[in-house]
Amino acid sequence: MRVYFSQLFKEHRPPRRHPEAPDRLDYLLEGAREAGAEIVEPQAREDAWRLIELAHDKSYVELVRRLCREGEAFIDGDTYISEGTCDAAALAISAAAGAIDKRETALIATRPPGHHAGIAGRALSAPTQGFCIFNTAAVSALYAGEGVAIVDVDAHHGNGTQEILYERDILYISTHQHPATLYPGTGYPDEIGRDKGEGYNINIPLPPGTGDDVYVKVIDEIVVPILKQYGPRVVIISLGWDAHREDPLTDMNLSLNGYLYVLDALRRLQTQTVILLEGGYNRDVIRRGTGALVRMFDSGVFEPREGRTETGPAALRKAGEILDEVRRAVSRYWKI
Ligand SMILES: [Zn+2]
Repeated sequence: MRVYFSQLFKEHRPPRRHPEAPDRLDYLLEGAREAGAEIVEPQAREDAWRLIELAHDKSYVELVRRLCREGEAFIDGDTYISEGTCDAAALAISAAAGAIDKRETALIATRPPGHHAGIAGRALSAPTQGFCIFNTAAVSALYAGEGVAIVDVDAHHGNGTQEILYERDILYISTHQHPATLYPGTGYPDEIGRDKGEGYNINIPLPPGTGDDVYVKVIDEIVVPILKQYGPRVVIISLGWDAHREDPLTDMNLSLNGYLYVLDALRRLQTQTVILLEGGYNRDVIRRGTGALVRMFDSGVFEPREGRTETGPAALRKAGEILDEVRRAVSRYWKI
């Protein structure tokens, strides 16, 4: 599988110690190389900034570009912009749009991450932009047009993606740690989409401590059946490694076994898959996860090198209740 990477993605640099730092990509690359991936430099596109405006207000885009020119700024308490941020973000969009054009399945080592970035920056009711500048997944989906689906497996709800696509008939499915327990505080099952988008926004919030067993159920009983009915031409995956049990910022209990199960189910749809890096802050998990992902997409080997995790009794009960809620919200639109 092709991995699109450029040194420019590392030029989005925090002014001080920050979990979302350039070295995350060193670990991604190490894992990709170990697995024999082909590392390719993406080509910058002249229309990248025009594409960004498919999803974002012009005034927000101009603000970000001004902050890049000024160098080193925090756009909010969590989210920084540096001199290299704009070139990195635009190249990430170029890489994703390029992969879509070539109809190839690829992993794009995007930085900055994007799924919390809304139309004008902060999305919905979130207190910050959660390290995100432009929403690469939503921009790519709007660029790809009809028949694109986004599956977001980051531990946080992709509130920006939801906001941007809420009135569009583009399928967005997100699994995430329950919003009552984690930033950004949105992503409830009844947020189902509006107007033309009604039924196309699917939130599957899961209690802290959710393990592989519940994710398997969610994939088999909800995510894959909906995707099959929708019949996407392209699947964009917002891939955050932060639902892993060893992630320092969240409380989920997923192992690489669970992650690989999810990714394998998406691979089996046999549609073009464009994978975008979102969060994930345990460097070793990024390295090992990327390696396992590349090996699976390239040769079909399921080798997570980690055992399956189980959800504890209290979280399991809670997950059961929530999944009933999801089914009630979703079954008006999809057979599940
Ligand atoms: Zn996240």
